[in-house]
Amino acid sequence: MKNKNKQFAVIGLGRFGTSVANALYKLGCEVLAIDADEERIQKFSEEVTHVVQADTTDENSLKALGIRNFDVVVVAIGEDIQANVLTTLLLKDLGVKYIVAKARNELHGKMLSKIGADRVVYPERDMGQRVAHNLVSTNVLEFIELSPNLSIVEITAPKSLVGQSLAEANLRAKYEVNVVAIKRGEELIVPPLPDEKIKTGDILIFVGQTKGVRKLEELE
Ligand code: ATP
Repeated sequence: MKNKNKQFAVIGLGRFGTSVANALYKLGCEVLAIDADEERIQKFSEEVTHVVQADTTDENSLKALGIRNFDVVVVAIGEDIQANVLTTLLLKDLGVKYIVAKARNELHGKMLSKIGADRVVYPERDMGQRVAHNLVSTNVLEFIELSPNLSIVEITAPKSLVGQSLAEANLRAKYEVNVVAIKRGEELIVPPLPDEKIKTGDILIFVGQTKGVRKLEELE
């Protein structure tokens, strides 16, 4: 995987930032973790490649860290929106190639996109959506909204579909969704052919219109 060789920096070691930094580290990436708070830094020292204390709203501190040499910088500062926005702006100004910024709400997200964040993430909103979909339909294992109209969903095959082939189930016509993969135990069938029969316990992964995906979730 070519991203492994990239240099990552994560700013703000709250729960989200910590999780991103640790996950990247476990994936074998080089990660610099940055936080203004000395205590957070102390707790962290063992887990990622490098940890430094710095206030990232200070341009000189960012320059001293050589932040522009990092391929991807994740702004995970949460509560302090001003610090989050200012940091993103400075990173952009300094020429960081790819900035991922965490937004608290839609307006904040819009602002981050306007000032040049390459990717805006909404961890609380996304997790809330996943949990809600899982609560409404017990078949739903994963739900990811790619855009307001397009989603990916992973569901346990509803009983009503078991025994039918994908062609017979005709989900594309009925729900405007495509089955992109079937997980069957250890086996992953990608892409499944039209004559593939749906079996009990299959996990179906769909991509399609959010409207259609919702209807599909209601199948039993
Ligand atoms: P989570 O929900 O992920 O736990 P949060 O929304 O509670 O995060 P905060 O705790 O507000 O996020 O911020 C995350 C971290 O960002 C904190 O550890 C804080 O010290 C750090 N932080 C805040 N401002 C700055 C700054 N200007 N420079 C560097 N780090 C900062």
